[in-house]
This record gives sequence, C-alpha cells and structure tokens, in this order.
Amino acid sequence: MSIFEVDKQYVAGTYNRFPVEIVSGKGSVVTDVDGKEYIDMGSGIAVTSFGIADDVWQQAIIEQIGKVQHMSNLYYTEPCALLAEMLCKKTGFKKVFFSNSGAEANECAIKAARKYSAEKKGADHFTIVTMKNGFHGRTLTTLAATGQEHYHELYQPLTPGFVSVTPGDVDELKKVCEETKAAAIMVECIQGEGGVLVQDAAYIRTAAEYAKENDIILIVDEVQTGNGRTGALYSYMQYGIEPDVVSTAKGLAGGLPLGATMLNEKVQNVFGFGDHGSTFGGNPVSCAAALSILKRLDDAFLAEVTAKGEFLRNAFADTEGIEAVSGMGLMLGLKTVKPAGEVVATCMANGVLCLTAKDKVRLLPALNIPMPALEKAVEVIKEACRLAD
Ligand SMILES: *Cc1c(COP(=O)(O)O)cnc(C)c1O
Repeated sequence: MSIFEVDKQYVAGTYNRFPVEIVSGKGSVVTDVDGKEYIDMGSGIAVTSFGIADDVWQQAIIEQIGKVQHMSNLYYTEPCALLAEMLCKKTGFKKVFFSNSGAEANECAIKAARKYSAEKKGADHFTIVTMKNGFHGRTLTTLAATGQEHYHELYQPLTPGFVSVTPGDVDELKKVCEETKAAAIMVECIQGEGGVLVQDAAYIRTAAEYAKENDIILIVDEVQTGNGRTGALYSYMQYGIEPDVVSTAKGLAGGLPLGATMLNEKVQNVFGFGDHGSTFGGNPVSCAAALSILKRLDDAFLAEVTAKGEFLRNAFADTEGIEAVSGMGLMLGLKTVKPAGEVVATCMANGVLCLTAKDKVRLLPALNIPMPALEKAVEVIKEACRLAD
C-alpha cells in the first residue's frame, strides 16, 4: 500500500489531505516523496516560524534533548523558567501557564477568567463573550467559544456559558455583557480561520476600555497572530490595548507543540496549587525551542516581517483575479475571483504551498522567508489567480 492508502485506512478521516507526501525540507522549501520542491507559504499553519529544520532552532533542541527530554511539573527545569521570564520581560505580563496547543492555552485563559470572576463577583459571573466568526479551538469548551455554528452541529451539548456577538457592534457587546454578567470578553485582533479579517481597531479599543471599567477579563487569542506573525511580537500591541490574558501557541516553539497563557497583574495569582495542570506543559525541549525563537524576534527582525508583508501587499495590489488583500505582517488573505481552493491547487501543481481561510487564499510564510523565494511564490500565485483569456 502507498502511504496515501495506509493513511486513508488507518488515520481517522478528519483531514481532507492533498495527495502530497512531504518527506523533508530546509527553510522555506519543502520536498515531497518524488523529489518535487515547493515554496512553503503556509508554515504548517503559522507554526514553523523560521522554516523547516532551521539550524539555530535545531541546535537548541538537540542540546536540550541530550540533557533531559521531559520532567514532570513536580520539579523545576531551566528552559520552562527562562521562557516564562522572557515572555514576561518582553510583554509586561506577570506569569505564564504552559500547555501544548492553542486550544489548551485558551482553556486555561477561560479557567483563569472564570475563577477570577467567581471569586471576585460571584459564581453566576461565568459567561465568556466571544466574537462571531472567531476560532478558538476544537475541544468542547473552545468549540463553544468558537462563534461558528457549523463547528457545533453534532457535538451538543457544548460547555455552557458562551455567547458570541457581532464584531463591531459596541452596543450589542455591552448589552450582552450586562445581561450575562460576563466574566470575560475573548477576541482575536485578526480572525485567522474566519478569513484573515482584521478587526476594527476602534471597536477593539472600546471593548478593552469597557472590559477594564467593568472588571471583565479581556482575553486576546494570539494563537495564530502571535510570536511575530503580524509584524509585532503580539498583535494586541498594534492595537494599543492591554489584555488581562493572552493565549498563544502555533509559532511559539517554531514547530514543536507548546501553548502559553500569559496572565497580567490582575489575574497572576488566580491559580494556586492544583488549580490547573498539564503533564506535557512546559516540556523542556519545546521551551528550549521557543527560547531560541523568541530571542530572534527583536525589533529589527519584526521590521523585516512588516516589510515583507508590505512587499506582498504591493505585489498583489491591482492584480488580475485578486479583489482584495487583508491581514497584517505575514498573515495575509487574498480575496480571489476564482474559488480559493482552485487557486491553491494550481499553486501546488506549480510548486507553491498556500492555505485557504473561508473564501480567501491565506498566506502564512516563515517569518524569515528569503526575498527570492517570496518573489517566486508571488509570480506563481499571481499566475494562478489570473483569469482565463
Ligand atoms: C489554530 C488556532 C487555535 C487552536 O490551536 P490548536 O493548537 O489547533 O489547538 C485557537 N485559536 C486560534 C486563533 C487559532 O488560529
């Protein structure tokens, strides 16, 4: 049996995979089993921040794996402590809880908000107000937080205590927060899975002010937008807001599983011994990988991410078959005249891997993608978008 057949027979059918088997890669180039090379404009969905098998990243992992690959959270390990310190020093947050994925980072954020509000205002203050069209993960609780009905259908009952509102409607947000005695407002500054939709800055700022005035926890989900993706260390920084809780994962460890939930001074002590936990959370290899990534995300590097994003925007402006470009930094969505899936398939045939998000072609290249690779990818994508003569 071919790998396609083995996979189809034995792996649960949750993924509609492309008929491509990737066997290796370096930087922004990946190679399939037939030796065909592709420019990777998806980075494993914003995960491989410095591309495939980056040397510095690899070295950090190899060094740590030769010392200790896992320890229970009953003991201290250096990478976990140093990563928490680095995250706090770079952001101003006070404490970090480590997990293994975006969904788990959000579960922790939700638990923190609920415990804070239950203790401060009473157990009836449990509702998490989220945004329609958002995405927060696939566990039953983070699905409840995901304001997209089609993900919910056949998994009822989901965790109660979640209400989604229409982004941009301040009156609705305030009304729902009051009526539900909200514990938290949970947002993505740029909805990723929802279609690379940059949220209105005035709305996000008003929501943040309202949350602060009413002692409602503001959670910003930076699972996709975080760790340099949008040209800032975290996208909330570009919105000029100060969330109480930030969750992140995807690109944090550059390709190893790691989730982080950052807590500000308001909620830093909400968890005590035994209140939350994770066997793998804070894994020393993942944390060593994340340290190596975060060290490189300085201002000069982030300015390059922004510049590359601008280059892509300019390259796709006034292009036949592309109606609009959305997003920030190296998180971009192309509204194409042709169906996005068709464009992605053409790009793949021509050696460029892209993603979709709803009706958009989504681009999430490695943050350090070299300009020649970016230029070549642009040509292939433009050609794929071009309408038939
Ligand atoms: C991908 C994503 C998640 C879920 O992350 P997992 O690691 O798949 O659990 C949550 N929130 C946002 C915004 C995401 O993009």
